[in-house]
Amino acid sequence: MKKVVKFGGSSLANAEQFEKVGDIIRSEESRRFVVPSAPGKRFDGDTKVTDLLYSCYDAAAKDGDFEKILEEIKSRYNEIIKGLSLTFSLDEDFQVIKENFKAQIGRDYAASRGEYLNGKVMAAYLGYEFVDAADVIRFDKNGNLDSEKTDKLLGKRLSKCENAVVPGFYGAKEDGTVTTFSRGGSDVTGSLVAKAIKADMYENWTDVSGFLVTDPRIVKDPAVIETITYRELRELSYMGATVLHEDAIFPVRKEGIPINIRNTNRPDDKGTFIVESTCRKPKYTITGIAGKKGFCSINIEKSMMNSEIGFGRKVLQVFEDQGISFEHVPSGIDTMTVYVHQDEFEEKEQQVIAGIHRLVQPDFVEMESDLALIAVVGRGMKSTRGTAGRIFSALAHANVNVKMIDQGSSELNIIIGVENRDFENAVKAIYDIFVLTQM
Ligand code: ASP
Repeated sequence: MKKVVKFGGSSLANAEQFEKVGDIIRSEESRRFVVPSAPGKRFDGDTKVTDLLYSCYDAAAKDGDFEKILEEIKSRYNEIIKGLSLTFSLDEDFQVIKENFKAQIGRDYAASRGEYLNGKVMAAYLGYEFVDAADVIRFDKNGNLDSEKTDKLLGKRLSKCENAVVPGFYGAKEDGTVTTFSRGGSDVTGSLVAKAIKADMYENWTDVSGFLVTDPRIVKDPAVIETITYRELRELSYMGATVLHEDAIFPVRKEGIPINIRNTNRPDDKGTFIVESTCRKPKYTITGIAGKKGFCSINIEKSMMNSEIGFGRKVLQVFEDQGISFEHVPSGIDTMTVYVHQDEFEEKEQQVIAGIHRLVQPDFVEMESDLALIAVVGRGMKSTRGTAGRIFSALAHANVNVKMIDQGSSELNIIIGVENRDFENAVKAIYDIFVLTQM
């Protein structure tokens, strides 16, 4: 059994957190490949090392006093090293970093040092081999991941290791230029390592016990999702639930490797399993509820629209020409409604309306703003009768007016449009009917 274990910044913020991580890794022999992030916040209001590195590099570019910030960063690592009683020093590395900052070798290089240094500390602490991500994660000339090359390099290098630490978040181009993923990208590194070594499991350790059924800012202490499929997760993340970097899904999904989201501060919690498919019945009919405010609807009406071939394409063409993506397009016999993000749409509103008039000569166009969309997602809905009925009676009881309903034939989700001001109440009502009353 081989596991890749990735630890986020809050799991590695100080020596105490490192010790928890050490205990977790040592408690299972299969945890052989470790991907660390840079040290995160130690307390509310603290600054992540990655952010300090960006500021430090920017100060160096402006001829500012970057050495002071670099000292602050160094002391963060020294505090960890001392707290773990390691006889190990990063002095030489910091000397090199200072020279490279002076020479302004790149912002990505600067940011990547957070993971690089933390990887070195982690390897020394665990007695694992350190594998520099610059040697095994390959980016192309344009800064995009070269997944094939990466898979080969990683596979070859790691096949020689009994266990290893590969720092997250960065890699390098063929010419050695260090390049990072977007923020939160250590998740992606973990996924690439898991794919390359053909891991049995990719454990992603963070500071929450998995994905929650809904947003804890709306519902107090929501239940944790035990198992979620990649498709369900996609439907939920699309509405803004972010625990895992989006690009971390693809490499492991293709290989059928499950991801387990775990909590470093509560290692006994089982967390959430993300899997390709499962015959395990979900605990509740729905897996999750996610949503977002700030949408606009554009309702286009024209009699006999249903027999006018190409009508929909032309309408969507107008949005495409203006560079606006659409969220949903429910339609009636003579109506078609397009839901878009309000902030993207507002400044181009008049061009869109003019374009629609020009291309399809509608009878009229009506717009409404300040709408919220809620996605109720669950593989269990397909085999359960009455789900939609329960949702709508719960919303009626909560006095929420439903503006739009959209269910795809996958029966994996039901999208509901409500007014912004009803958003929280609607989410609460749906949660209560499916989860609270089932507990
Ligand atoms: N340290 C990087 C960030 O703060 C990458 C990561 O943590 O995954 O975004």
